[in-house]
Amino acid sequence: MTNSQSRGTALITGASSGIGAVYADRLARRGYDLILVARNTDKLQAVARRVSNETGRAVNAMTADLNNAADLRRIEDVLGRNATIALLVNNAGFGAATPLLQSDVGKIEEMIGINVTALTRLTYAAAPAFVERGTGAIINIASIVAIGPEILNGAYGATKAYVLALTQSLQHELSEKGIRIQAVLPGATATAFWDIPGVGGHHNLPGEIVMSVEDLVAAALAGFDAGEVVTIPPLQDGQEWTSYEAARRVLSGHLGNSHPAPRYLTSPKAV
Ligand code: NAP
Repeated sequence: MTNSQSRGTALITGASSGIGAVYADRLARRGYDLILVARNTDKLQAVARRVSNETGRAVNAMTADLNNAADLRRIEDVLGRNATIALLVNNAGFGAATPLLQSDVGKIEEMIGINVTALTRLTYAAAPAFVERGTGAIINIASIVAIGPEILNGAYGATKAYVLALTQSLQHELSEKGIRIQAVLPGATATAFWDIPGVGGHHNLPGEIVMSVEDLVAAALAGFDAGEVVTIPPLQDGQEWTSYEAARRVLSGHLGNSHPAPRYLTSPKAV
């Protein structure tokens, strides 16, 4: 049990299992009180009880389906009103591993709803409140598929590319206002995420590419402590990201011009 002063409240989505549940434990040990969000009340309360018992921090569980508009508004409301909230971890999400031709578009739409729409609405609820208080942090759980859309289902990769781009834009817009922003890009991590068609569990992946959830969260928090905007735990040579990002920034400075590039100034082909 700890009676140390709270560092504020961290609201973590998808905290009933996997990466979110480990974030709950680690953030409580760092002195945060918690609001945990997910659909499965029993699992969520089990995480809340365990973390609270082991750390002495105040832990509240809020059952919510972030693909349900009324439930989502409830969580947005909490982010807007609860002035103790100092950290939002946008972690809830799921993926798809099958190619387009073998995928159910209804399930893909559901994935966009949670990975993109819910994450965006929660960010838009938290950011103005953080700016008003001049402090706060947002951690967005993206994925390595944000920069490797060919690895799994393309729409899944696109949802995570969105999360990465949104995070980078938030860094641009909000870092001067005292707000910390981080995108975490996990590679394959040993969670229930992989219990999906086309894979059937992380045990079916090559062991050498699967990271434990404990190592993943420890590395993500080390990246946060180091002030990184983008943290890629499995990337061994961090310079590769630095070079890639530098090239992107140079390119993005060359994208405004009233004239098409010379390579497009060809005479029209006769039809
Ligand atoms: P997980 O164990 O399946 O956890 C997913 C969490 O999201 C659960 O707590 C789940 O809780 C919650 N969730 C799912 N749909 C929800 C909904 N509609 N409303 C509210 N909560 C919902 O998988 P995980 O690996 O920890 O995934 C966490 C994040 O990491 C995801 O964004 C995923 O894309 C990302 N990620 C994972 C990996 C990996 O290899 N594991 C790699 C890269 C990125 P309920 O079922 O109780 O709602």
